[in-house]
Amino acid sequence: MNQHYPFTLQPLPYEYDALEPYINEETMHFHHDKHLQTYVDNLNNLLKDYPQYHDCPLHQLVAKYCHLPEAIQTGVRNNAGGVYNHQLYFYCMGKGETRPTGKIAECIDRCFGSYDNWREKMKASALSQFGSGWAWLVTDKKGNFKIVHTLNQDNPLAKGMTPLLLVDVWEHAYYLQYQNRRAEYLDNWFQVINWRAVEQWADRVCGLS
Ligand code: MN
Repeated sequence: MNQHYPFTLQPLPYEYDALEPYINEETMHFHHDKHLQTYVDNLNNLLKDYPQYHDCPLHQLVAKYCHLPEAIQTGVRNNAGGVYNHQLYFYCMGKGETRPTGKIAECIDRCFGSYDNWREKMKASALSQFGSGWAWLVTDKKGNFKIVHTLNQDNPLAKGMTPLLLVDVWEHAYYLQYQNRRAEYLDNWFQVINWRAVEQWADRVCGLS
């Protein structure tokens, strides 16, 4: 998330069919190659006439968009969010540990009682997001794990929280395979969380272990 202008489409860290049958290859192609590419292109277009932000890392654009000139504020909020959120979403999936282990498992147990409780709460949060958005596992300023959901491409970084894991509940994330069945998509998403990747990310952003 330290990339800066000009942004490029980061390749998936696995094959397009790696998440089959839970998330199919067609969905991954559209989601990564079309949707994420559009956010990347839009963000580059927005920033092209603002050289003062060309060295600004992605996570700062996302966290501090409200300090940007008004003309690009909403655009950066939506499109820098779109790039960051999708990159982390794709990164946190794959074939790996399907249950949390180690330090992250301890934090989940401490803050939610158990993995199963966490899963239930995460699913409920994702279902309760009306329309397009995301559900997140974050840490707050005190280092407590929390679940939040956000509208559109908003990111909890802008509210001082640190994202650890997220699930896309825009219809484009599941409609090709699951149509309107968001709950079924979510049940399948839990099967493709790569907890090893999540742990490595959490370690990087909040020094978990
Ligand atoms: Mn998406």
